Amino acid sequence: MPTSVASSEDGENESFIVDIDQLQSHGIGQADILKLKAAGYHTVAAVHGAMTKHLLKIKGFSEIKAEKVKEAARKCLPNSTGFTTSAELLQIRKRCFRISTGSKQWDSILLGGFQSGSISEVFGEFRCGKTQLAHTLAVMAQMPKDRGGAEGKVAWIDTEGTHRPERIMQIAERFGLDPHTTIENILCVRAENSDMQHEVLCQLAEYFVTGEYRLLIVDSLMALFRVDYIGRGELNERQQKLNQHLSKLCKTAEEFNIAVFMTNQVQSDPGASALFAGADGRKPVGGHVVAHASTTRILLRKGRGEERVAKIQDSPDCPEREATYIITTGGINDPEKV
Ligand code: ATP
Ligand code: MG
Repeated sequence: MPTSVASSEDGENESFIVDIDQLQSHGIGQADILKLKAAGYHTVAAVHGAMTKHLLKIKGFSEIKAEKVKEAARKCLPNSTGFTTSAELLQIRKRCFRISTGSKQWDSILLGGFQSGSISEVFGEFRCGKTQLAHTLAVMAQMPKDRGGAEGKVAWIDTEGTHRPERIMQIAERFGLDPHTTIENILCVRAENSDMQHEVLCQLAEYFVTGEYRLLIVDSLMALFRVDYIGRGELNERQQKLNQHLSKLCKTAEEFNIAVFMTNQVQSDPGASALFAGADGRKPVGGHVVAHASTTRILLRKGRGEERVAKIQDSPDCPEREATYIITTGGINDPEKV
């Protein structure tokens, strides 16, 4: 388990995460709690939101036991009915934070940065800076809140083998953070196939329950799914697995109030509707399943010279605006003024 190098100042993230051990106070034995943990349930909210049929897959869990566990979870949670007024929701949403991109222009079109509690996706062709942005965010997430950070740790699912600690250290230096502490605070896992990508995501709950994590990076979402499922014949199966993965990402973002940031590749589709594709007919891979899961979607493209352009394509609270940025040794930045 990680050490608490970067726990939040006010502990607000910890306070709403109810550890699954709390079920003990409502009559659930330690042995059953251990089985729930082994099955990937680490919080009371995860048990409360679990389908009964999934709990029944745990060895020794009967209908009666599953119901008892769910009842205990209901008793542990302050509002287990799920009904809230919009005003109460506003209070809960005050927990949400934004992580700066490293570029003022980009932050301003995103009203401060990438938001916690939901999934954000950037997609674009190779070399447009998706992985560089991921590196910058992994540093920014550790910065003080008044400098666009979230004062927390970062988890990184690397599906392409492109995570570079050296880059993190360079970016940390730009922002005056200790480079060694900064890389210590990033938990990386290399996924070799799409099954593993999902498994490691489930395992991360064990770390997130500490309340120390603020950002989860998936770079990239689709690379392994595209290799593991080939052709039309396997498309249905791929989309089903992908849907499960995205649903878990979404639940993780909400359960732990973490910002989930994922990168995505593009494919050429001249016939694609303007709704999904950029002006050049490129659209993100993964189809409707990914489109529905991403709360915020941003298209990246190359601009003039070394410049790159980010365009918001879908967001519940930001208009469709564009920002220009460059990639520097210190990460994503604003273009130099001429
Ligand atoms: P892919 O789809 O292949 O994964 P990507 O969008 O993730 O592409 P990145 O790896 O984020 O692309 O960006 C690559 C770009 O970043 C290259 O143009 C490279 O020159 C630039 N780059 C990498 N390191 C540095 C650095 N230290 N300083 C400046 N630019 C850099
Ligand atoms: Mg990349």
